[in-house]
Amino acid sequence: MDFHLSREHELIRKMMADFTENEVKPIAAETDKTGAYPRENIEKLFDLGVMGICVPKEYGGAGADPLASAICIEELSKQCASTGDIVATHNGLCCDPILTHGTEEQKKKYLPMLTTGRKVGAFCLTEPNAGSDASKGQTEAKLVGDHYVMNGSKIFITNGYVADVFVVFAMTDKSKGTRGISAFIVESSFPGFSVGKHEEKMGLHGSPTAEIVFTDCIVPKENMLGKEGKGFGIAMQTLDGGRIGIAAQALGIAEGALNEAKEYTKGRVQFGRPIAAFQNTQFTLADMELGCQAGKLLTYRAAVMKGNGERYTKEAAEAKLFCSEHAMKTTTKALQMFGGYGYTKDYPMERMMRDAKITEIYEGTSEVQRIVISANMGLR
Ligand SMILES: Cc1cc2nc3c(=O)[nH]c(=O)nc-3n(C[C@H](O)[C@H](O)[C@H](O)COP(=O)(O)OP(=O)(O)OC[C@H]3O[C@@H](n4cnc5c(N)ncnc54)[C@H](O)[C@@H]3O)c2cc1C
Repeated sequence: MDFHLSREHELIRKMMADFTENEVKPIAAETDKTGAYPRENIEKLFDLGVMGICVPKEYGGAGADPLASAICIEELSKQCASTGDIVATHNGLCCDPILTHGTEEQKKKYLPMLTTGRKVGAFCLTEPNAGSDASKGQTEAKLVGDHYVMNGSKIFITNGYVADVFVVFAMTDKSKGTRGISAFIVESSFPGFSVGKHEEKMGLHGSPTAEIVFTDCIVPKENMLGKEGKGFGIAMQTLDGGRIGIAAQALGIAEGALNEAKEYTKGRVQFGRPIAAFQNTQFTLADMELGCQAGKLLTYRAAVMKGNGERYTKEAAEAKLFCSEHAMKTTTKALQMFGGYGYTKDYPMERMMRDAKITEIYEGTSEVQRIVISANMGLR
C-alpha cells in the first residue's frame, strides 16, 4: 500500500490548483450571484483535457484514470462547487456509461463529441415520482420501425440546459419492472426533445439544473445504450462511479472552507489575540483537518478500486456519505469562525455552506448511501 500520489497525479493536481486559483476563484462569487453558467472556464477545461479526462486517447480523451478525474473535481470544488459539479456530471455520468456500455460505433460517434468536440454531457434518471426509488420512472420508449418514440420527463438534470448529449433511462417494457428499463443516448437536437423548467436552487448557482421533456422524441434504434432491459443496472453502475465524483466535490468544498478558516482565524484579533490562538478554534480546525484526511483516503481508495476494475459499490457510497457530511459540518463550523462576516457575501463561507448541502442529496441521499453500505455488509 502506497499513500503517495504518482508524479502524473501530482502534475494533474498542480495544473488544476493553478487553474482554480487563476481562473475559477476570481469568478466564483460572481457566478454564484448571477447564476451564469461558467462557459469560458468550461471551454478552457476542454482545452486542458479535463472534460472527458478518462476517455481513451483513441476517442479524443486524455486516457487518464478515475483518480485523476477525482483530483480535478476536488481542486475545482475548493473554489467553485458548481464548476466541479459540471465536470463531475460530464465525466462520471455521461462519458463513463458510454465508454463502459457503448458499442464501438457509439463510442466512435459520441466520445469524440464529448472531448475534442466540446459537447457537454448529462444524465437523465430522476423523475417527479422516481427519486431515491429510481426504479419507478414512467418515461417510456416504444419501438416503431427503425427508431424509438420517447415520452415523459426528467427533473433536476445537471447540465440540463447546456448539454448536447444525454444518457436517458426509459421503460421499454412496463410489464417487466426494472428489467423493462433501457438506457439511451439522446441528443438535444433530436425531434421531440425540449428543456423545461430551469431550477432556482439554494446553492450551486453556476450549475445549470433543468427539467428535460420528451414529446414523441425520435431516438434512433442504434442509440440504445447496452442491451434492452439492462438500463437499471447501467444506471446503478454509473451512479457508483458518479459518487466518487460527488465525494471529490464534497472533499474539495471542505478543504476550501478549511483553508479559508485557517487564514481568517490567524488574522482576526479578538480579546488581544488572533482567534486561531484559542484552543477551541484549534480543536475545531483539527477536527476539520482530520475529516478531510479521512475523506481523501476514502475517495482515493474508491477511485483506485474503480481504476483497477474491482467492485467498489460500497467504497464509493462510503466516500460519498463521509465526504458530504463532512463538507456540511466543516462549512457550518468554518462560517461560525467568521462570526457575522461569515454570514455576509463579503466572504465565501455562506456560499460554500449552501453548496455543500447538495452533496448530501444528489446521486443518492445520505440515507440511500447508508442503505447501499448496509446492503453490502453481509447482514442478510
Ligand atoms: C441540484 C440537483 C442536481 C441533480 N442532478 C441530477 C442529474 O443530473 N440527473 C438525475 O437523474 N438526477 C439528478 N438530481 C436528482 C437527485 O439525484 C434526487 O433529488 C435525489 O436522488 C433524491 O430524490 P428526491 O429528490 O426525489 O427525494 P426522495 O426520494 O423523495 O427523498 C426524500 C427524503 O426521503 C428519504 N428517503 C427516501 N427513501 C428512503 C428510504 N428507503 N429510507 C430512508 N429514507 C428514505 C431521502 O433520503 C430524503 O431524505 C439532482 C438533484 C438536484 C437537487
